[in-house]
Amino acid sequence: MGFRPFIYRLAVRNGLAGYVRNRGDAGVEILLEGDAQNIAYFMSDLTAEKPPLAQIYSISKAELSGKIQYQNFTIYKSSQEAETSGSIIPPDIAICDQCLAELRDPKDHRFEYFFITCTNCGPRFTIIERLPYDRENTTMKGFPLCGFCLKEYEDPANRRFHAQTVACPTCGPKAYLTTNTGESVQTNDQVRLAGKLLSEGNVLAIKGYGGFHIAASTLREKPLQVLRATKHRREKPFAIMAKGLEAAKGFAEVGSKEQELLTSPARPVVLLNKSSSYKLSPLVAPHLHNVGVMLPYTGLHYMLFDQVEDPAFVMTSANPPNQPIVKDNEQALKTLGNTVDYFLFHNRQIAHRCDDSVMRVHGSRQVFLRRSRGYAPAPIRLKQKSKRCVVSIGGELNNTSCVLFEDKAFISQHIGDVENIETRGFLKEATNHLQHLTNCKGETVACDLHPKFTTTILAKELAEADGSPLVQVQHHHAHAAALMAEHGLDEAVSVVCDGYGYGADGEAWGGEVLFCTRESVEFKRLGHLEAQPLLGGDLASRYPVRVAAGMLSKTGLNVEEWLTKNSQHLPYGETEAKLILTQLKKGSGILETTSCGRVLDAVAALLGVCFERTYEGESAMKLESRALFGNAILMLEPQVQGNILGTSCLLRAIYDNLGRVSPADLAYSAHAYLAKGLASLAVKKALELGTKNVGFTGGAACNQILSQLMRETVEKAGLRFLAHEAVPAGDGGVSFGQAVVAGFSKF
Ligand SMILES: [Zn+2]
Ligand SMILES: [Zn+2]
Ligand SMILES: [Zn+2]
Repeated sequence: MGFRPFIYRLAVRNGLAGYVRNRGDAGVEILLEGDAQNIAYFMSDLTAEKPPLAQIYSISKAELSGKIQYQNFTIYKSSQEAETSGSIIPPDIAICDQCLAELRDPKDHRFEYFFITCTNCGPRFTIIERLPYDRENTTMKGFPLCGFCLKEYEDPANRRFHAQTVACPTCGPKAYLTTNTGESVQTNDQVRLAGKLLSEGNVLAIKGYGGFHIAASTLREKPLQVLRATKHRREKPFAIMAKGLEAAKGFAEVGSKEQELLTSPARPVVLLNKSSSYKLSPLVAPHLHNVGVMLPYTGLHYMLFDQVEDPAFVMTSANPPNQPIVKDNEQALKTLGNTVDYFLFHNRQIAHRCDDSVMRVHGSRQVFLRRSRGYAPAPIRLKQKSKRCVVSIGGELNNTSCVLFEDKAFISQHIGDVENIETRGFLKEATNHLQHLTNCKGETVACDLHPKFTTTILAKELAEADGSPLVQVQHHHAHAAALMAEHGLDEAVSVVCDGYGYGADGEAWGGEVLFCTRESVEFKRLGHLEAQPLLGGDLASRYPVRVAAGMLSKTGLNVEEWLTKNSQHLPYGETEAKLILTQLKKGSGILETTSCGRVLDAVAALLGVCFERTYEGESAMKLESRALFGNAILMLEPQVQGNILGTSCLLRAIYDNLGRVSPADLAYSAHAYLAKGLASLAVKKALELGTKNVGFTGGAACNQILSQLMRETVEKAGLRFLAHEAVPAGDGGVSFGQAVVAGFSKF
C-alpha cells in the first residue's frame, strides 16, 4: 500500500542510503546506512507518518557491522524467492480523497477518468492473479503505461510511484455503455448517461471491482417491481449506494460509528435505520426498519450521480439465483440480458470476484454480516501460532473458506450457498487461490460434521488427494471456536444461536450453550433450547405457521382454530392445515430442532409479521424490526428444566396475549425471554465451571436486541461478554472456526 515509496521518501529526507524491499511474508526489509541520529529520526517518522492504510504489527531491528556499501537509497523490485508462505494480499480500497479531487479538477490529466487510483487506493485483491504484487501479475497487464503515467510511476517523489493500478484516459481501462443485447450506445459521456438512464427508470448492470451490480432507481416503483419479479426476490432487501454521506443522512440515521464505516477505505454496505424523512420506495427494503447503504467507492460511482437528483441507487450483487456474482462481460450479457435494459461495462478483467461487505453497528461495535470486498483476504491475526497449516471449507450456506497459517487466518471472500455446481466451483477456485497465495498445501483439512454436505464430500476428496488428516467440526462448535479465537481465549461458555447445524448427536441444533476449550476437538453441550417439531422438515423452515402450530400444540392448546384461520398463509390452504393437524395427532416420525431461528420464525408467524421465509433470516429480521418499537411488557420468567430452556411456554404466552398486548411489545418480550433465558443459563454454567468468559455467536448474534440483552445479563453477573467484531457471527465465520479447531486442538 505505497509503503515502500513512503520508506524511500523518509530515507531520502533523512539523508540515508540503503534499500527497502518486500519480503514475501508481507514484511518489508529496510537497510539503512548513515548517521545514528538520522536513523533515529527515520525510526520516529516511520511510526508517526505511516500511510493511513499501512499497519505496522512489529519492528525488529539489528545493527550491522562492516563497510558502507550504498551511495543512495533504492527500492528493490520484488524477487521471485519472496513468494513464500503467509503473504498478505491487500484488499480492494475505495478511491482516496486526493484522487477524488483530481477526478473533479479540469486541469488534471485524469480529470473525469473513472478508474483513477494511486498507491493509496484502487482495486487490489480482485485484480491480482499471482504474487508478488506487480503490474504484470495483475489484470492491469493488458494496459501498458503511457509516457505520462510511466513518468509518475518511476518518480519516487510522486504519489503514484510504483502504483500498480496507475492509469489514465490514454492508457487505462475504458468504460462503454451497451443495450441489453450488447449493441453499443453512442455517447461521449458513458457514465453520466448511465446515471441518467437509472434516474429515468431503467435497470442497468454495472461492472465494478469484484463483479457486476444490478442498479436501479430507489425512487420509482416500476423498475423495482421488475427487478423483484425477474430476480426472484420478492422481499429480500436491496443494498443501495447513496450519492454521498449527506444524501444518506437525508433518509437514514447515521451515528458516528456508522459514519466511520461508511467512509472507511473498505466502504462496506452498512445497515442504517431508516429516518423519519425516509422517502425511498418501500420496495427497497420492505418491512424492515433499516436499509443497507454504501457510498461510492470508485470514480465511476461518483460520476453516476453527477447529473441526477437521486439521493441513491439500488446497487445489488448481480447473481442468478443460487449462483456467484457475475464477473465476466460475456457471461453478464448471457445471464443478465433479460433482467436489465443496459450494461455499463469496462474492459479490465476481474481476476477474482468479490461481493460487497455488509455490516451493522450494535451500540458502538461493528458486526460483520458479510466480510468480503475491502476486507478479504486480509488475514485475521491470532494470539498464538498454529503448528499446522489448515485448509477449511466451511459449511453449506453463506459460506467462506479459510487458510490458517501460523498466526494468520486468511478468510476468503463471500462464496454463498454451496448447493449448486457453479458456487461449488467458486469455492474450490477461491480456496485454491488462498492456498496458492499462502503456499499452504493443507497439511490438515477441516470441514463440517454433516455427512452429506457437499463441502464435507469436497473436504474428503482434498484430504485424500494430499494424504492429509481430516477434522470434522460440529457447526456450533465452529461458531464458538471462531469467537474464542477472535478474542484469543483458551476457554469460554458460548451461546450459539442460528437456523440450523448438524448436531453431535445427528439431530438438528441451533439454540445451544456450549463449553469449548482451545486445545480440544471435543466440547460440552451444557444446555439448549427445547426441541420443537419441524412439521414437514424443510417446509417448516419456509412456512413458519407449521412451526408455530407444532409448538403451540405441545402446550395442550387445540390449534385447529388458529391453524384454520391462518391456512391462507400455507401454499395449499385448508387442505394443508388439515394434513398438519393429522400429523400432529399422530405425533410420531416428526423431525425436531433446537433452533433459535425457528422459534423466532414461529413468533413472527403468530404476530403476523412474516408468514413465508423467502430469504435467509427473513422472519427474524422482520421480527427485530417490529420489536425495536416495543417494550418488555410481558414479563416471563425463563422456564429451565434440566438445562433446557422451554420455548413452547413462550409461544403460548404470546398466543394468550394476542390482541391484549401490542405486537411490538410481544415481539420485544420474545427477544427478552430468549436472550435472558439463554444468557442466564450460560452464566450459571460459567460460574460452575469457573470461567469468566461468556460469548454469543451464530447468525442470531447479528440481532441487536438479542445481543444487547445478553450482554447486559452477562455483565451484570460480573463476567466478560464476548461478541464478534472481526469475523462474521453467522456462517461466514464457520470456516474460520473450523480452521482454528483443526489448527490448535491436540489430536
Ligand atoms: Zn488515490
Ligand atoms: Zn496513462
Ligand atoms: Zn450457523
